[in-house]
Amino acid sequence: MADIPQETTTKRHDQTSELQRIRHSCAHVLATAVLRLWPEAQFAAGPPVENGFYYDLELSHRITPEDFPRIEQEMNKEIKANHPFERIAVSRDEAIKMAEEGRLAALSARTVPSRFKLDIIRSIPEDEEISLYRNGDFTDLCAGPHVARTGNIGAFRLTGLASAYYKGDERNPQLQRVYGTAFKTRRELDAYFAMLEEAKKRDHRKLGQELELFTFDPDDVGPGLPLWMPRGTVLVEELEKLAKETEFAAGYQRVRTPHLARESMYLLSGHLPYYKDSMFPPMEIAETQGDPNSARHRYYLKAMNCPHHHKLFGAVPRSYRELPLRLAEYGTCYRYEQSGELFGLMRVRSMQMNDAHIYCTTEQFEQEFLAVNEMYLKYFKIFGIDKYLMRFSTHDPSHLGEKFVDEPDLWIQTEDMVRRVLQNSGIDYIEVPNEAAFYGPKIDVQVWSAIGREFSIATNQVDFAVPKRFGLVYRDRENAAKTPLCIHRAPLGTHERFIGFLIEHYAGNFPLWLNPEQVRILPISTEEAVVDYAKSIHQEIRQHGVRAELDLSADKVSGKILRAEQMKVHTMFVLGKRDVESNSISVRIHGKGNLGPKPRDAVVTDILNSIRERLP
Ligand SMILES: [Zn+2]
Ligand SMILES: [Zn+2]
Repeated sequence: MADIPQETTTKRHDQTSELQRIRHSCAHVLATAVLRLWPEAQFAAGPPVENGFYYDLELSHRITPEDFPRIEQEMNKEIKANHPFERIAVSRDEAIKMAEEGRLAALSARTVPSRFKLDIIRSIPEDEEISLYRNGDFTDLCAGPHVARTGNIGAFRLTGLASAYYKGDERNPQLQRVYGTAFKTRRELDAYFAMLEEAKKRDHRKLGQELELFTFDPDDVGPGLPLWMPRGTVLVEELEKLAKETEFAAGYQRVRTPHLARESMYLLSGHLPYYKDSMFPPMEIAETQGDPNSARHRYYLKAMNCPHHHKLFGAVPRSYRELPLRLAEYGTCYRYEQSGELFGLMRVRSMQMNDAHIYCTTEQFEQEFLAVNEMYLKYFKIFGIDKYLMRFSTHDPSHLGEKFVDEPDLWIQTEDMVRRVLQNSGIDYIEVPNEAAFYGPKIDVQVWSAIGREFSIATNQVDFAVPKRFGLVYRDRENAAKTPLCIHRAPLGTHERFIGFLIEHYAGNFPLWLNPEQVRILPISTEEAVVDYAKSIHQEIRQHGVRAELDLSADKVSGKILRAEQMKVHTMFVLGKRDVESNSISVRIHGKGNLGPKPRDAVVTDILNSIRERLP
């Protein structure tokens, strides 16, 4: 099991950047090693990425995993030598000269130029300083930063190979991409690979199939369009039930909107043309079928629910008395993701979002935002998510009017309020300047699964521009027209992504309240008294809404138990003659084993309680 330390926010943030320096430095060491083996190699880009680094290179020898040991051996030599990473500032002309002599991303001068580096230098803006970094006899064009010396790279491993076009453009040469990862210590490296091993066992695509939760039919239904099987639908509906109860208690009202709208609405919202590539192409239809003179309109499948909700806000005159108005919908959205980027439930083309829009006054904002955060915390508690982080993206005043809507006071005011709420509620967060949305600050929520893997599940946004575009107003106390603020929030993200996360988080062992099959009743004999007893319990608990199944097959009990365990059914009632006689139930819990016989009433009461309280 992975051993991922749970640091505080700031520490984690610093460590991430240190880790990135380690990983990027390791890419230089990789290039050094490759050149020792193949001095003619040409290098393009070698950045740190999530969980590691890569370096793209051109080489007539096709690198295979069989080459890894000797590349790693050369890398270890470079690390052992503990060369400093020296920064050398050069003029553009010097840099070009070196590239032409083949001396960039190289150990020495070569007969052919460092052609990708030459191209990169030409794309560096005139006013930007050009720097080289040297470790030992390897020199590379690089802006840094790096660790101080190669010996600071604690532990590394080469992890994979891919091919990639230079600059991601298929008209450019195809390069070999070598992936690796590095950590500060060997222990952290080992923990990371142990976590990956565990994640493979918990892969939501594998468990989704084994547990009959969802399926895809890329040929006829289309890629990225999940079909929820009955067991998966239970998960979907339990989540919706939780959200509906929680939102009802928090004063939300539910709405329902169609899955498409005319082009004019998305021009109004600003999603078109800006967001066009992420939307399915439009369908153009005549409003009156068969009439050649009929008006024609373009319709788009909705990629977000906000515009429809804004229309509902604007559908009737609104007074300050109605605010805050909270409109909620588990809305289905469609996004035209690139087919190469589709990934199980994590990246799909249709998704159902735990969406709501809160329309409020500036005075109400802080309280509303706090309530949204409390809702997150409530959910995290229910799902046993004990590591999470909010990334709070703010504006940069120097980009007002271009990157960020020109409302300097509203930016400062809302960001202050968001910051205050985050601080007061004790939620771990980091602040990222200059990354807000165009129309307001935003918060991305990251959670870690039980095995320490990170998932982005949801985004909250403050919006003070779009309500204006939609002409949304309410009448204040003095009967003056005012524009409300809007909070977009989706604590449970989309069903697809959240269930994908939960499958890994629980390894498919869903808690009783969420489990597709809560109880399976397994009589151990075909004796009439035992079968009748099993049937009466089955009937009783189903009447209480418990998802219970009865296995009346003639199989041995060991076979029945095995089948139930394979489907990760939460609780098994294994019933024999003795249970009938003493009006008891022998309980077996998935993954825990037999708990022995208990009085029937007590067992039923416990189960109903556990489901009602959504116990972990
Ligand atoms: Zn570098
Ligand atoms: Zn929205």
